[in-house]
Amino acid sequence: MKNVAVIGAGTMGNGIAHTFAQSGFRVQLIDISEASLKRGMATITKNLDRMVAKEKITEADKAETLGNITTFTSIPEGVEYASLVVEAATENLDLKLKIFKQLDEACPEDTILATNTSSISITQIAAVTSRPELVIGMHFMNPVPIMKLVEIIRGYNTSDEVTKLIMDMSRTLGKTPTEVNDYPGFVANRILMPMLNEAIETLYNGVAGVNEIDTVMKLGMAHPMGPLQLADFIGLDVCLSILNVMYDGFKNPKYAPCPLLVNMVNAGKLGVKSGEGFYDYSESRKAEKIALQFSK
Ligand code: NAD
Repeated sequence: MKNVAVIGAGTMGNGIAHTFAQSGFRVQLIDISEASLKRGMATITKNLDRMVAKEKITEADKAETLGNITTFTSIPEGVEYASLVVEAATENLDLKLKIFKQLDEACPEDTILATNTSSISITQIAAVTSRPELVIGMHFMNPVPIMKLVEIIRGYNTSDEVTKLIMDMSRTLGKTPTEVNDYPGFVANRILMPMLNEAIETLYNGVAGVNEIDTVMKLGMAHPMGPLQLADFIGLDVCLSILNVMYDGFKNPKYAPCPLLVNMVNAGKLGVKSGEGFYDYSESRKAEKIALQFSK
């Protein structure tokens, strides 16, 4: 397995491409948006520069990593020789089903099709392909080059052989894979998202401000980042999509997204990626600098 295609060059896609390329894989990075590809490659370059400055890698390693990545703007290109595809496009069911149909047609019949979805059913995605035993969830954490965990999600039909292969491959990337079954939110987001939603609800109810809520969780619970800062970092639209998938999947009101989260997404306040969420990132990307107070 030396050829890997990554679909989507956004927050996660560029990190996934970076990680594979740095481990010596040839990576085809595909995004329908030229601007996203440009931003993605700029982020990879910036992150490699930081690693060079910290003497974790050499200039030659950086050049080799960048040389391993080729970019494309449509799916038939770049996937013909892929042994593995990791899809990291926008968290939207219809979009993912469309992409997996395209991949199934364009890729060799033994290509493993993985998705980085945070919450959408692997089984449902696999069902639109002719190879459900080769479809698996490979849920990387943000920021991908740094975070060790990969949640490996077995769909209803994912084969033992494919699961083992992807677990082993994750280890060659320096990651720690953890196998879980395919239910809404899997493990990571089933536990994380209700906490983030509760933090937003606490703000919405006027119990405390943004800084206060984050400070309680950082200093009181030893979380490296407050929940509101983490929600900004993940993307508020991504958080909303995941909560909706769990709400629909379990039919349980405990997963209902807070109205403030819905309002902010509708207003285009998506967190770090849009320049504003619970914090303002317009001048500085340091979340601690300016906390915006939201009221009902
Ligand atoms: P993002 O919005 O930052 O990037 C999505 C990218 O997909 C965009 O660049 C967009 O142009 C591209 N795209 C849309 N349609 C496409 C298509 N048809 N073909 C190719 N590219 C297309 O999103 P993200 O935060 O990187 O999330 C990507 C996936 O990773 C989602 O499934 C999300 O749930 C999951 N995820 C996100 C995080 C996180 O912290 N943001 C963590 C783990 C998993």
